[in-house]
Amino acid sequence: MLKLDNISTFYGKIQALKSIDIAVEEGTIVTILGANGAGKTTMMNTIAGLLKPKEGTIHYLGIDVTGRRPDQLLRNGLALVPEGRGILATMTVLENLEMGAYHRSDSEVDADIEKVMDRFPILRERKEQYGGTLSGGQQQMLAIARVIMSRPKLLLLDEPSMGLAPIIVADIFKIIKEINEAGTTVLLVEQNARQALKVADHGYVLENGKVVASGTAKELLQDDTIKKAYLGH
Ligand code: ATP
Repeated sequence: MLKLDNISTFYGKIQALKSIDIAVEEGTIVTILGANGAGKTTMMNTIAGLLKPKEGTIHYLGIDVTGRRPDQLLRNGLALVPEGRGILATMTVLENLEMGAYHRSDSEVDADIEKVMDRFPILRERKEQYGGTLSGGQQQMLAIARVIMSRPKLLLLDEPSMGLAPIIVADIFKIIKEINEAGTTVLLVEQNARQALKVADHGYVLENGKVVASGTAKELLQDDTIKKAYLGH
């Protein structure tokens, strides 16, 4: 579904991604692990079209989409929930959900709003409240609910558990699994390596802008080097 070949991305002279090769099969959850500054966010932003790679190609649904704009990719089902969530603080919960569907012209938007509010009852309770007044966990749920409104085929989630209490983190991972089971392919960036590998099918480890390890999530969970560096023992 998604394939990165030899991708290199720069900030001026700083090379943040160094010849990255990554593949995401349709229907799976793939997680990218790595320390702060490893290049995870740069990778997500490059895939979503927010940053242009200097070298390499990105194929999405079999088509070369290298250099395409974020809104073109979104229209074709490739959606990003950025680090820090990016919800609209001065719009209500309901307006945020409507914004998620702004590019849709079908007649099922209202029905989809009902569906996401069924899945996230707290958002129904707070639908008239401003996004900025929700708790961190509720904001993350709103960010995910909003992106579901775009009917993504491939969902990119950049550190969805960041800054959340452990009990909420567990909720977020459960929701990610449910979204995947409902048919959306997921590419997930996480510092919370153990939980990410538990929901994922495959994983890649980034260090200094390079892929240094990859495998099935099961293999990575059992790998001694990964355990020491990323899983706390
Ligand atoms: P974090 O978890 O802290 O977000 P990350 O793995 O997502 O880390 P990136 O944010 O992709 O890492 O950063 C990769 C490298 O690129 C780092 O060395 C960082 O300092 C550098 N970098 C990131 N954003 C910029 C920018 N706007 N301008 C210059 N350098 C940047």
